[in-house]
Amino acid sequence: MSLRAFTISLLAGVCLTASLAADQAAPAAGPNSDPAYQQLRNLTLGAEAFTVNNLELKRDAATFHLHSGTVCFVKPVQGKVTGAVFVGDGNLILDPPIRSEDQTLKLLTREDEFSEKFAQLVLRFTDSTYEEIKKTSAPAPVSCDAGLLQESQNALRHQLRYNLDARILQDVLGSDPGKLFVAFIKGKHYSSKMVLAIDPHGAPELAQFTFGEEILAVPLAPEEVELMTYEDNKNGYWASFHLSDEYKTGVATGSQMNGVIKIEHQQLDTTIEKNAYLRGSAATTFSSQVSGLRVVPFNLFRTLRVQNVKDKDGQPLAFVQEDRHEDSQYWVVLNKPLAAGESYTVTTTYEGKDAVRNEGGGNYFPIAREDWYPSGVGAAFGQFATYDMKFSIPKGMKIAATGTMISEENSGGNDVSVWKSEGPQTIAGFNFGRFKMQEAKLDKPEYLVQSYANENPPDNVQALLNTVHHDLPNQFEHGDSAALGSMSTVPLIKKALAEGELSIGLYTDYFGPVPFKRLAMTQQTACSFGQSWPALVWLPMCAFYDTTIRNQLGFTENRGYWKIVAPHEVAHQWWGHDVGFSSYRDQWMSEGFAEMSASLFLQYVEHNPGKFIDFWNEERELLLERDKEGFRAIDAGPLTLGYRLSNTRSGFETTRRLIYPKGAYVLHMIRMMMWDNRTGDQRFKAMMHDFVKTYAGRSATTEDFKATVEKYMSPLMDIDGNHKMDWFFNEYVYGTALPAYKFESSVGKDPNGDALLSIKLSQQNVDQNFKLLVPLYMEMADGRHTELGRVQMVGTQTVEQKIPIKGMKETPQRLLINYNDDVLASPN
Ligand SMILES: [Zn+2]
Repeated sequence: MSLRAFTISLLAGVCLTASLAADQAAPAAGPNSDPAYQQLRNLTLGAEAFTVNNLELKRDAATFHLHSGTVCFVKPVQGKVTGAVFVGDGNLILDPPIRSEDQTLKLLTREDEFSEKFAQLVLRFTDSTYEEIKKTSAPAPVSCDAGLLQESQNALRHQLRYNLDARILQDVLGSDPGKLFVAFIKGKHYSSKMVLAIDPHGAPELAQFTFGEEILAVPLAPEEVELMTYEDNKNGYWASFHLSDEYKTGVATGSQMNGVIKIEHQQLDTTIEKNAYLRGSAATTFSSQVSGLRVVPFNLFRTLRVQNVKDKDGQPLAFVQEDRHEDSQYWVVLNKPLAAGESYTVTTTYEGKDAVRNEGGGNYFPIAREDWYPSGVGAAFGQFATYDMKFSIPKGMKIAATGTMISEENSGGNDVSVWKSEGPQTIAGFNFGRFKMQEAKLDKPEYLVQSYANENPPDNVQALLNTVHHDLPNQFEHGDSAALGSMSTVPLIKKALAEGELSIGLYTDYFGPVPFKRLAMTQQTACSFGQSWPALVWLPMCAFYDTTIRNQLGFTENRGYWKIVAPHEVAHQWWGHDVGFSSYRDQWMSEGFAEMSASLFLQYVEHNPGKFIDFWNEERELLLERDKEGFRAIDAGPLTLGYRLSNTRSGFETTRRLIYPKGAYVLHMIRMMMWDNRTGDQRFKAMMHDFVKTYAGRSATTEDFKATVEKYMSPLMDIDGNHKMDWFFNEYVYGTALPAYKFESSVGKDPNGDALLSIKLSQQNVDQNFKLLVPLYMEMADGRHTELGRVQMVGTQTVEQKIPIKGMKETPQRLLINYNDDVLASPN
């Protein structure tokens, strides 16, 4: 799982005034002290007002018709007017440049055209909106409701938690004119809290969801255009896409890099105290991707407060970081503009609690995974950088981090270790605790696998242990009491080690080598998810316990991912970290391929065909079950919408239930189509090796993968005779098809005594263009299953056929379709 996630602290907020006061000696270099930023932060309406009449503002796929009314502008900052309020009669038409977004909008609105009426509108911009309105309108001696502007400012701080003022500052201080356009629409029809945003550097992450204890923000970048609503019961994205022109020029792909910087190297020095308080210093080297860049955005966990930031000469720089409960993104204000391609290094000193949590018993939980240091924004796992890291942790603790350990020593009562990335990597991270460690060296491929587990349970498990002993003596005290007595996971350290070793061997065979030489399987106290970083895996502690104890800990799901956590997470070394992805549209490959990889583990390592079949049945169940909001994941939308589908209407679990199992099914279906009774998985392996080799160290898109499948497709898969896999991708990747089958068969003999098989197969619940190759299996007397061939089905169709089999010694017992869950279909 790799979502941008953070945990809400329930502790009272730390007051910021102390650090503000401390920095008053150097006002230009303190937090939020840049004068232009202060003006933007406290922006109010100015005196300029205009009467508008039939004004059309066209912004990419959005057209605002201001039929009649008044526009009042905000006060200029550095000579630039960056906002306006409209009161009157207006309407917005949105016409997405791609069909799939058009369809999604139609599904959400149940209307053919997206058309929203409004009487009030707030615009924020760095494009030519001011000049455009002024040119075509007459000055008016009126004023507008200043409360409207304030409402949008409040929404940004408290609900959307996005620092638009800092983003606007970037364009105000930059030397290139900006092209940002953000509209807050008080709609009358769909929603009164609607935002349309266009940012050429990637649409802002405005939709956020509370999920249990966490807040999840879903990134849309590299797409630039978004429409979203933020009402309590209507929170989520309605549309997202690239700039319309980019579909014509071919730039509109998930690998597009349109952030303002590319991070090249990070030098991270991190000290974590016994109470988990973190102090860090990060020297971040990046190159500017635009000309005239002065304001640089970073991801830094909101509780890590920046103390100071310095340029390469040690001169303090101004920065922006608002309250941790509000729009707390970290932005650095450089003293001089950077040219496009120019490299620069800034050193940030930061500290705070709650980025790591002390869970008791020598267990530490790293809450901030992607942003415990100032990391890049808006690129998911598509940006690769090198890392030098130094960690200082309390004595007696062991650490595992991304990359290779260069040295470790005891210094001043702390454990100090130095780490280096083996090559450019997507992200950096660590895990530490009072760990026991075991390791194994592999020869082919050359790999050092390590397994870390803690002797002592965290406080919450300890508490459970006390409850169990107190309340449920009979249930547990037979035979199980020794293991339960300590709840120690150390006895299971070997299991994780073995799973790591075996997965690496298997995946190297199936997918080819990865650049990493080391893998640490580590235990984390969180029950509800695992995660994988380069050379580092966090396994949920619950994966170490059996289902009884898991249930006691409140964790009841025991299907899909839960059966194969370790092999799934190891597979992310290939999917996500060797082959990266930049866009939410391609994340299904990372999660789906990892999940499918784990099915290979069940098949070949556990040598258990039953478990393999059960696994696919359960993956299908997850897709077809209704959630508490009444939705089935399979219907919610196509795979390529990924986590963007999470919204308050269909729920958060829906997406997870979609991209993991269905993404897995897509790769499984391709594998099964490529399977050959004589050569087995040869064709599939060749394709996967090629894919990994081609996209190693960079990001791949869904379309890149489709092209690779087309390169290796078998003649049978070429249903349309054009050497394209559009038929399959349109159905299962870009579409939401789910066919149903009816099958009857009999096994008899022809007059010559040869076996004669009769089949009758019907395909249902599909549109007329739906095509699929349905596999036919023979079950032999000894229980073996052999694929007989595939029946090509088109639309709603029934095929009746007699198949004579000459010279076959054994007569099959019976015929089956879809024995290996080869195709995703409704259960029979
Ligand atoms: Zn995963």
